[in-house]
Amino acid sequence: MAAVYKLPSLSPLPPSSSDCTSYYHSVRTNPNTLCCLRAASPFTEKHSLQQYRRDNWLYKEHLPTFFSSPPPPPFREGDDEDSIRQNDIALQLPELKKLLQFLREKRLLTQQHSSPDGDSQKPCCGSVFLVGTGPGDPDLLTIKALRAIQKADLLLYDRLVSNDVLDLVGPDARLLYVGKTAGYHSRTQEEIHELLLSFAEVGATVVRLKGGDPLVFGRGGEEMDFLQQQGIHVKVIPGITAASGIAAELGIPLTHRGVANSVRFLTGHSRKGGTDPLFVAENAADPDSTLVVYMGLATLPSLATKLIHHGLPEDTPAAAVERGTTPQQRIVFAELKDLADKISEADLISPSLIIIGKVVALSPLWPCSSDESVALAGVI
Ligand code: SAH
Repeated sequence: MAAVYKLPSLSPLPPSSSDCTSYYHSVRTNPNTLCCLRAASPFTEKHSLQQYRRDNWLYKEHLPTFFSSPPPPPFREGDDEDSIRQNDIALQLPELKKLLQFLREKRLLTQQHSSPDGDSQKPCCGSVFLVGTGPGDPDLLTIKALRAIQKADLLLYDRLVSNDVLDLVGPDARLLYVGKTAGYHSRTQEEIHELLLSFAEVGATVVRLKGGDPLVFGRGGEEMDFLQQQGIHVKVIPGITAASGIAAELGIPLTHRGVANSVRFLTGHSRKGGTDPLFVAENAADPDSTLVVYMGLATLPSLATKLIHHGLPEDTPAAAVERGTTPQQRIVFAELKDLADKISEADLISPSLIIIGKVVALSPLWPCSSDESVALAGVI
């Protein structure tokens, strides 16, 4: 017999037992507070002014002084999304190229010093570490990840890596944002591959930081494949995937004897990039299994309908969690049939994770009858 006692440290007080449909972070009651919190997201969101300022600051402080070209244009308040996107690429790529050139020259000098008569020594290659940073709370990093982060020469990161994690980067390391945006998705992925390769080839220790676990919906496999094909040594350091981190935060056991005998991680994204990815709904509608949906906000309404259509009870407990494990975490609890509406009422944004299954009612925060949770836990 097991009951879940953990009360999430970052969550507000439990809701009143009379509210049996939804529950979310109390900041929702004050829209102004919400705005402030959004602006101060711990994630390195693409449009975060703070992040651009931080990056600019890093470049200014740490790039070698011989770089004579003018600094990239500053990011201005009021820039529209397109110009921000252009800025993003314009800001990052020249810096990368400059840095690469610097490392090449530095390596050439080192080689000349160690072999002045021009003996062709085989250049040593650097390594690439694909490092999972967990869902946001820096305390959820592994020690191995922390060590890799601290010894890196260059770190490439995207928007799911929290600023708290970036704060752990050593003072001499270069920190570069390679976040993706819809319009530049595939182009950027190729560029990231090329960058990882180029830097590894000049002997740098490169760390590619990925939110959660690099091999769970993180495209880490593609980057690994590409680099290995080019003869680069790749080491993967696992991270706590959002499902595990957030389930623990909410006190939800993803599997529980007699309640859920399996757990399935799904993506809400379509294979073709459309809005109807739900070819899996038929197999996934299993009341004895827990479903965890990554990137599922947009497609949840049709997923929920299909799951119910294929036999999942409409009162199946469910939760959606925005920015889980961070101080900005917000939670919506609802039965499956109501979840999409409750999410849109609460205006949850990405990154959000959805958990569907009877185990959700085992959370001490589940707003429906606590008798139900006790009964479920007591099944064993
Ligand atoms: N590699 C990551 C997943 C990347 S896919 C991992 O293992 O967790 C991106 C999706 O992950 C987001 O759209 C969201 O569904 C989920 N996610 C990651 N971090 C999250 C967080 N802190 N809070 C809520 N959802 C998160």
